[in-house]
Amino acid sequence: MQEIGAETAALRVLVVEDDAGIARSLVRGLDRAGYAARSVGSGHAALSADPLPDVVLLDLGLPDLDGVEVCRLLRRRCDAAIIVVTARGEEGDRVSALDEGADDYLVKPFGLAELLARIRAVLRRTRPSGAELLRHGTLTVDPRTRKVSVGGSDIALTPKEFDILECLAADPGRVVTRREILERAWDEHWYGPTKVLDVHMAALRRKLGVPGLVETVYGRGFRLGEPG
Ligand code: CA
Repeated sequence: MQEIGAETAALRVLVVEDDAGIARSLVRGLDRAGYAARSVGSGHAALSADPLPDVVLLDLGLPDLDGVEVCRLLRRRCDAAIIVVTARGEEGDRVSALDEGADDYLVKPFGLAELLARIRAVLRRTRPSGAELLRHGTLTVDPRTRKVSVGGSDIALTPKEFDILECLAADPGRVVTRREILERAWDEHWYGPTKVLDVHMAALRRKLGVPGLVETVYGRGFRLGEPG
C-alpha cells in the first residue's frame, strides 16, 4: 500500500459533484489516500479547471450542463482519466459517456475502497509506469505527470506551455520548427496566426527563468540550448 501512496502522491483528482456533502467526503477520502483532490459543483467549473487534473470523477447529473457533454468536452481538452458516476437507472447515459471517452464508471452508491481501486486501474491503463523523464541540464520534464522542475524547484506551466516544452525537451539540441510545435501543441489543422506561439513561448521562458535555455534559431525555430 505504501508504494501506491508514494506513486500517486502528486496526482490531481477533480471531483465534479453538485452534492456538497458527497463531494466533501470524496475529497477527504481521496486526500487521505494520497491524491491532491478538490471538487467543483458544476460542468462549467469542471471545464475551466486549472491546473488540469490527472483524474476526473464526473457525476453525470449536474445542474448546468449535460454530464455526457461535459465528458466529451473534457476529453477534447485534456488527457485526464475520466470516471463517470451515475445513479441507478441511467444506463443509457453511462454508455454514452463511455462512447464519449470516459475510461470507467461507478454506480451510486459506491464505497471509497471501490473508487480508489477504479482510479488505480484506470491509471494503470492510461499512464503505464516507466515513461521516461526528459532531462536537460537542470531541467526535468515528466511526460507522465506533466510536471516540470528546474534545479529541483517545480515550475507551474499551463498545458500549452508544457506541450511546447515537451516538444523541445524530447530531443534537446535539435531545432524544432514553428510548424512542428504548432502541430503538436495545438492540433494538426492549426492555420491561425503563429504569433500565438510567441506569446506562449515568452511566458514559458519567463517561468523557466534560465536565460539561454530556450534558444531562438532565426528563421528556423527553437531548440534547448546550453545556458551559461
Ligand atoms: Ca448530481
